[in-house]
Amino acid sequence: MHPLASKTNRATNWAASPERKQPAGTSETQRDPLVVLWDLIKHDLEPVIGKQNVVTWLNPIGLVDVDGSVKMQTPNATCREWVMEHYFDAINRVAVQRLGKQLEMIADSEDGTRDSRPAAPAPPAATVTPRFDPTRRDSPLDPRYRFDKFVEGTSNQLALAAAKRVASDPGSSYNPLFLYGSVGLGKTHLMQAVGHELRARMPHWRVIYVSAERFMNEMIQSLKEDSMASFREWIRNVDVLLVDDVQMLARGERTQEEFFHTFNTVYEFRKQIVLTSDCPPKTIAIEERLRSRFEWGLIADIQPPDKETRQAILMKKAEVDRCHLPEGVAKYIAEHVKSNVRALEGCLVRLMAHCSITNQPITEELAARVLKNQFAGEQEEVTLDAIQKVVADHFGIRIQELKAKNNSKRVVHPRQIAMWMARELTESSLPEIARAFGGKHHTTVLHSVEKIARKKRTDITFNKELSLLMSSFQ
Ligand code: ADP
Ligand code: MG
Repeated sequence: MHPLASKTNRATNWAASPERKQPAGTSETQRDPLVVLWDLIKHDLEPVIGKQNVVTWLNPIGLVDVDGSVKMQTPNATCREWVMEHYFDAINRVAVQRLGKQLEMIADSEDGTRDSRPAAPAPPAATVTPRFDPTRRDSPLDPRYRFDKFVEGTSNQLALAAAKRVASDPGSSYNPLFLYGSVGLGKTHLMQAVGHELRARMPHWRVIYVSAERFMNEMIQSLKEDSMASFREWIRNVDVLLVDDVQMLARGERTQEEFFHTFNTVYEFRKQIVLTSDCPPKTIAIEERLRSRFEWGLIADIQPPDKETRQAILMKKAEVDRCHLPEGVAKYIAEHVKSNVRALEGCLVRLMAHCSITNQPITEELAARVLKNQFAGEQEEVTLDAIQKVVADHFGIRIQELKAKNNSKRVVHPRQIAMWMARELTESSLPEIARAFGGKHHTTVLHSVEKIARKKRTDITFNKELSLLMSSFQ
């Protein structure tokens, strides 16, 4: 049996600690770490390229370890060319997150090691895969994103409690439930956990999960093809509507209008709506009438997890992947990786892959060596939230005042400094910074940055004050 086909085996040999080593002959209870890694990559790509394309194009591919670097092995040149042209960049975006580096491609036909693999089917005709199926009752949810795999901490307590409440009593208390927080903090996980729970309890219900981006794409395509009726049937005839990353709606007016009517229809039928976003409703650049609807129910934020929660999340992830992760190592990683949970997971996967390939046990010393680059990047990463906190503390004002419309001198000056620091210390664009400061106009940011830069050049005392603030991040 090809390793990729052994889906039923969840046990892995990630942990090569002696007590967990399998005796010879029991290898069928182990999963090849590269198979697990490829499964994770495919899983991340499914919402991006669609399940059908994953099945058709990515399932026939395997990962191989060539002199310590991981490569994709395709069954033949057709598959390789198609994947190179259509999915290579997407695969590598995920691979970098998961493994910390890109994957290269080798074709089987070149080295002849996998001639027995079936050839990939011919590229599908453009019309074969429907973009969405209005008759389908459900949309796929990630099996890992359930409540029992979500670790509670003070940073996510409110969001978790609200999500559980919605899952037990949909369409009544909190409608819509609006979850917001920075990237990689568990919004999608919680939203899908609501979906899982309701599907389990109400098997006949139609639970639709969709990203705002997909909503937009489907709508545009349906407009082009004059098939809006089936689009509306698909998205409005639901029992539960889960829409991920609604900040994306800011991109198009027509999309906002369509979404407004979708929202109204679903809401009027007292069906549960859950929305997520990377910022609170008031700072999303969308029409007022839509924004106010987002605020009708409960708004819950998710903050970055504290150290103990990060450690608990790592232990949980390791348990799910059946990897023996010593607590000391989890603690060590949790101390170093602070930005988001996805980065934490990335470290774990990288460490597990390394230990498995080299057949070494997971130790703190090894973690330090293998994850050196991840940790270095981590230290450099400065968030807008962190800058706001440092500046607000320094000037003795509240973070909220930096974001408010208040234009008194007491607040404007620190705000301009924080905007200048955001420009210096992060990759954020002017509009992103503007958004983080309560939805100001990006020219306000530009004006602030220029003003502070001028003052810095001419005022020595001010220059020193800025250096002091900047030193918090160096
Ligand atoms: P977001 O949608 O906020 O960008 P995700 O929901 O995609 O973030 O979460 C990123 C990863 O981190 C997922 O694999 C998710 O399972 C994991 N994760 C985030 N928070 C937690 C948590 N509290 N417990 C367990 N896993 C978590
Ligand atoms: Mg998400």
